[in-house]
Amino acid sequence: MTVRAYGAFSCDNPLEPMIIERRQPGAHDVEIDIAFCGVCHSDLHTVRSEWAGTLYPCVPGHEIIGSVRSVGDAVTRYRVGDVVGVGCMVDSCRRCASCEEGLEQYCQHGFTLTYNSPCADKPGHTLGGYAQKIVVDENFVLKIRHPKEQLAAVAPLLCAGVTTYSPLRHWQAGPGKKIGIVGLGGLGHMGVKLAHAMGAHTVAFTTSDSKRADALRLGADEAVVSSKADEMQKHANSFDLILDTAGASHNLDAYTALLKRDGVLCLVGLPGTPHPSPEVGPLIFGRRSIAGSLIGGIAETQEMLDFCAEKGIVSEIERMPARMIDSAYDRMERGDVKYRFVIDIASLEP
Ligand SMILES: [Zn+2]
Ligand SMILES: [Zn+2]
Repeated sequence: MTVRAYGAFSCDNPLEPMIIERRQPGAHDVEIDIAFCGVCHSDLHTVRSEWAGTLYPCVPGHEIIGSVRSVGDAVTRYRVGDVVGVGCMVDSCRRCASCEEGLEQYCQHGFTLTYNSPCADKPGHTLGGYAQKIVVDENFVLKIRHPKEQLAAVAPLLCAGVTTYSPLRHWQAGPGKKIGIVGLGGLGHMGVKLAHAMGAHTVAFTTSDSKRADALRLGADEAVVSSKADEMQKHANSFDLILDTAGASHNLDAYTALLKRDGVLCLVGLPGTPHPSPEVGPLIFGRRSIAGSLIGGIAETQEMLDFCAEKGIVSEIERMPARMIDSAYDRMERGDVKYRFVIDIASLEP
């Protein structure tokens, strides 16, 4: 079947309307009418070929919310009309040790990304959620339990939400723990909300005084301006976990110095150029770690969505029609968005 989409034919062209082909739903597939799609920094990096290996035409989008239009004969978990989500993955090998543990994001054979991964469908690679429909195996579809009026703001949970939720859970954020969140962007603002909701003492690190009030409004117990050495010094040796969401290359030593013994600095942003090599001393003296974390598995993504529905957590968003996508990318590059753009897919109508 053909559907309307928004995508790019090459890295130096703006995104434009296009018609794409979706496969006919197979026995295990769910056909989804997309209502909203969040705009992630990965979309921008991929479309503009800032990371190696972009396949064109490229239709990005992996923060997808919609409703079920039809289901294959073997589908048991979804029915027509259900409100559902699709995140960063649409398949994995399903038999390696990671997949068997529900950690498909660490699939040893490589999972299938929602866009820009090789696949059998035309044009030979996956196409994402800036489109009217998507067809996905039911095992990679999520149930959405938020009320209808919140659905646009739920979309960013599928990537930004789970990318911060997974490490917070893995390193056991909760009452009695002191958690830092570096960077107050799409990921960071979700990290602040989630760490706060888990009951941890939450400290937001920002680069500017102007974001301090916003950090507190989002749920931070304290906000620290990272360029102010005296403010940083007050928190030395005190954090159980610092979740670093900053995408740009920066000095990590400023944060390892703030960890307790056995504390962890977890990186979830992928910098275009490497961070300066960290000092080893603070790691050895204090058994501190620098770690990384990638999105979350399907079961954990469902757990995160249910947690957010129960606590009333959504992303802070700016809704926009698809034709605004290029100017939205430009604003994202300037850090000028509070805190996530979400495309109204109804705007793809002719
Ligand atoms: Zn993303
Ligand atoms: Zn696997």
